[in-house]
Amino acid sequence: MKVLLFATVLSLVGTCASKRHTEKIQDIKDNIRFEDSNYINEYANSITAQELSNHVYHISSDEFEGRKTGEQGHYKAAHFLKDYYISENIGSPLGQENYYQQIPEPYFPDGIKSSQNILAFIEGSEYPEEIVIISAHLDHLGIDDATIFNGADDNGSGTAALLEMAQAFKKAELAGFGPKRSILFLHLTGEEEGLIGSRYYSDHPVFSLDETVVNLNIDMIGRVDENHADNPNYIYIIGADRLSTELHYISEAVNSNFTNLTLDYTLNSDSDTNRYYYRSDHYNFALNDIPVIFYFSGEHADYHLATDTAEKLDYELLEKRTQLIFSTAWYIANSEFRLIADKS
Ligand SMILES: [Zn+2]
Repeated sequence: MKVLLFATVLSLVGTCASKRHTEKIQDIKDNIRFEDSNYINEYANSITAQELSNHVYHISSDEFEGRKTGEQGHYKAAHFLKDYYISENIGSPLGQENYYQQIPEPYFPDGIKSSQNILAFIEGSEYPEEIVIISAHLDHLGIDDATIFNGADDNGSGTAALLEMAQAFKKAELAGFGPKRSILFLHLTGEEEGLIGSRYYSDHPVFSLDETVVNLNIDMIGRVDENHADNPNYIYIIGADRLSTELHYISEAVNSNFTNLTLDYTLNSDSDTNRYYYRSDHYNFALNDIPVIFYFSGEHADYHLATDTAEKLDYELLEKRTQLIFSTAWYIANSEFRLIADKS
């Protein structure tokens, strides 16, 4: 499928590599085209506020007891994800009906029991060995003093986004528009305990890290922070330009063609004292020179409190933000040329 072609073929007649690179960046900026934008729109539009809402309400319900790493509630939530992927006919790279990458207890801080990442997978049709990872942590803070920390935004929002994106990519595949590169939907454990699930995955990768093209990581994308009370149509983009110049421009072009959110780079600044670039699971991929984007809607008054509940999310916004990430993943998975990491 000729999904997304650059309008002009990159010039190979040139002098040095850096000149070619500069030309390529210019080419991306000036000439990026989404020739199959109808398909992107069609499948992005299958991601709906209603379905995202259903997922967030369920994932952040008391049934899962705050999804504390290593506890019964997290395991139940993992089981829910596994059942979902089975029902959607989306397989696991670990083999039949084995969706869990089990992490032994010694990997975790004292007092935290063994837990698992959950992996689902759609194989690429042309470059199956090249992997696009879309990730979100599933775990949260559990129960404290009989109070359940439901973690609807953190990270029910990201978890729901993965479920909807996986369903959309699967629909496209069934219609004959499967991705050229493989896509791994990676639900990470132990994030709240210190990015443990992503560290374990990067120490024990299921697919070669050299062949891992990008990590799009989602952690809290369902709310509006106080800086954007007057313009809620936004998302923070963190890390996109740090390892790959072209990833930044791809992200921008996808947004301006499909979603038109305000991409806020404030938290990407090296001088940002919150240091978010270092604070969620994408960082363990960046450490391995894999380009990343961290999608985030910012902190809020309910951050890491029991009041982070499902009715406080804006599901229309969650839909738009998920569609942005989906469309970005679609582009990277289908473009003619593999994404290049040109910085370290
Ligand atoms: Zn989180």
